[in-house]
Amino acid sequence: MKRKLIIDDLERDVDIQWKNIKNIILKIKDDGTIVISAPKGVLIQRINLFLEEHIEWIENRISVIERNKKKKWQLENGGTIRILGIDYKVNIFASDENFIKLNMNQFDIYTKKSENLDYSMKIVDKWIRNESAKVFQESFESTIQNMISYKKYKIDIKPRKMSKRWGTCYPQKAVIHLNSKLFHAPKELIDYVVIHEIIHLKVPNHSEKFYSEMEIYCENWKEKRKKLNSEYYGYL
Ligand SMILES: [Zn+2]
Repeated sequence: MKRKLIIDDLERDVDIQWKNIKNIILKIKDDGTIVISAPKGVLIQRINLFLEEHIEWIENRISVIERNKKKKWQLENGGTIRILGIDYKVNIFASDENFIKLNMNQFDIYTKKSENLDYSMKIVDKWIRNESAKVFQESFESTIQNMISYKKYKIDIKPRKMSKRWGTCYPQKAVIHLNSKLFHAPKELIDYVVIHEIIHLKVPNHSEKFYSEMEIYCENWKEKRKKLNSEYYGYL
């Protein structure tokens, strides 16, 4: 039996099979199809409930599968790098000092080891960490201004290197970590992640309450999430 399930705003096929087994088994195929094997006699209502209970696990599995399919961005002389949503041409120059210069649409990397791409990448990482901190702070200050019931929170915003997520919120510690790689994305997508994490100060999980807050504070958040995950995962 087939049914549909909305995950991450996309319709997914759920393939339900009844078998001679004892427990409900859930699997995700590489094409993103969700496969449920259920003991004979189990009602569809029970299976729907099971899917609802495992929705977060399914979301996570699917995002891992999709991420693995995406091509990773790589630093390359003559290639491109996207900064705040704008593409720049990468130029690597030998130099006595390590630094980065942005002019017009050129991203110039001056490096002591111009033949060593890993070394250049470290310079880029460091530059992104520094630059992103300012942008993240600005984004936080401007977005929270419009979130009336959240204004009271005093929060530290810190860029972090993360490989799997765009942000994390620690309400008890009053800290939000943002993935420094968000710096590749345009400001409106950074704001989207900031709003998402700010809402976690009050609503820790991704419950209905959470999404109704997203509706209030973030216009077109579903499109923004889709854009972020489809265009910027390659930078993680
Ligand atoms: Zn979240």
